Amino acid sequence: MILVRINKDRYKYDIHSLVKAFYPKEDVSVVTDEEYENKEIDEKLISFRIEIDFSEDAGKITMKIIRKDGTICEASVVCDNETGGSDSSTNGTKSSLSTPKNALKQMMYRELTKEIGHELPWGSLTGIRPTRIPMQMLEAGKDVSDIKKYMKETFFVSDEKTNLAYNIAIREKAILDDINYKDGYSIYLGIPFCPTTCLYCSFTSFPIVTWAKKVDSYLSCLEKEIDYVSEAFKGKTVNSVYVGGGTPTTLSPDQMRRLITYLRDRVDLSSCREFTVESGRPDSITRDKLRAMKECGVDRISVNPQTMSDETLKRIGRQHTVSQFIEAYNTAREEGFDNINMDIILGLPGETEKDVEHTMSEIEKLHPDDLTVHSLSVKRGSRLAEHIRNNGFFVAGDTGSMMKIAGEGAERMGLSPYYLYRQKNISGNLENTGYACEGKAGIYNILMMEEVQSIVAIGAGTVTKRVYGDGRIERCDNVKDVTLYMNSIDEMIERKKKLFA
Ligand code: SF4
Repeated sequence: MILVRINKDRYKYDIHSLVKAFYPKEDVSVVTDEEYENKEIDEKLISFRIEIDFSEDAGKITMKIIRKDGTICEASVVCDNETGGSDSSTNGTKSSLSTPKNALKQMMYRELTKEIGHELPWGSLTGIRPTRIPMQMLEAGKDVSDIKKYMKETFFVSDEKTNLAYNIAIREKAILDDINYKDGYSIYLGIPFCPTTCLYCSFTSFPIVTWAKKVDSYLSCLEKEIDYVSEAFKGKTVNSVYVGGGTPTTLSPDQMRRLITYLRDRVDLSSCREFTVESGRPDSITRDKLRAMKECGVDRISVNPQTMSDETLKRIGRQHTVSQFIEAYNTAREEGFDNINMDIILGLPGETEKDVEHTMSEIEKLHPDDLTVHSLSVKRGSRLAEHIRNNGFFVAGDTGSMMKIAGEGAERMGLSPYYLYRQKNISGNLENTGYACEGKAGIYNILMMEEVQSIVAIGAGTVTKRVYGDGRIERCDNVKDVTLYMNSIDEMIERKKKLFA
């Protein structure tokens, strides 16, 4: 464990994320002096300590790294006082180099880089939406050199990641400029059932075999929420609909028809630019379901191999084979789907660069319209986290090299990066990137990731987001437990009513 002690209760989250980015395999605990005094800590578990001291007027921050062998490295930085700088100034209209948060993160980044002996690809950026910085700067009229300078000087982002973030921001902006998103909203429908639970799952997901008899009652609850949406958002434009989960294709063809028809009958989707149904698990896809979706106007689906290795699929509990995936994909093409996304995951247990090369060469033969490349994220509470605890951390290859192999493969297929996000505890401290061919970029993904419009989310475990005109965001969530969701459906609707009042 790495123990970080701070003398004032501030920036705990940022400090934790940054230390964790340098030491992903270590537990990191950030405590105030007061918390330290009241906390029982097993000293034997501590690998090394960091002490951070904010001077009284916060005009100076000092940092000490106390190594296991007792040697100490000390550094300090001068910054604005507590009220002298805005930590949220990222549009480049004023320098934010010396705000307390940035000054602290820069100092920590410099010192920890020396400790581990190399830089991090995303520098000191630990947030999940790094493209928002170039995006905001583009909107503020900044040019490419301003943006690159800012990313490098403020956050130490590598040239490669700066170029990636900038190019994606340019593409996203072009797509958003073509959508009247400011007056619209998007709808998310959550189907929290899956054929089985994948080892790495951290989503709201329950085995369909256990829930099969209650799916119709669950759909009735979604319909109640749809009734609320149709009333509350009357006259507003729906830009995109996304049915996710879970695995929506655990629904039968009739249940799929019932849900989508109900939505179409009550909500005006005439201006909807994209209707996606995640059909992630090939073992849930049948021709009849694909037909039902096509008839109902679904124009984008996702069929996800994750890897093209049967051995890995078995290891991660997917319970489908590569050939089942290829069959599901080909059936979707036969049924007329001309916008199909595939998800793959890098850093899966036991996989090396060779496996990723193999996965990419197999995918290239299929020519998907979209490819989303995820770096494995090990979330607390997932079975994967437990698996890692029990078996030791084993990502057999270098995720950075895997990311390069996947990016080159996407380029060979004519797919360009169009959206990007990062997660906590992501393998290699990298990112998830969506690639798409011209005209096939997932609009919902951009609207959701850039947080430029409200997303009304329906179903158990979903989160509704209200985006105000000034960029302020408020959220309300639906409970994850399906039974509780169904029993408290009126309360779920009340929460939305309050949020959009
Ligand atoms: S398909 Fe997705 S939601 Fe379902 S268990 Fe696997 S990771 Fe979780």
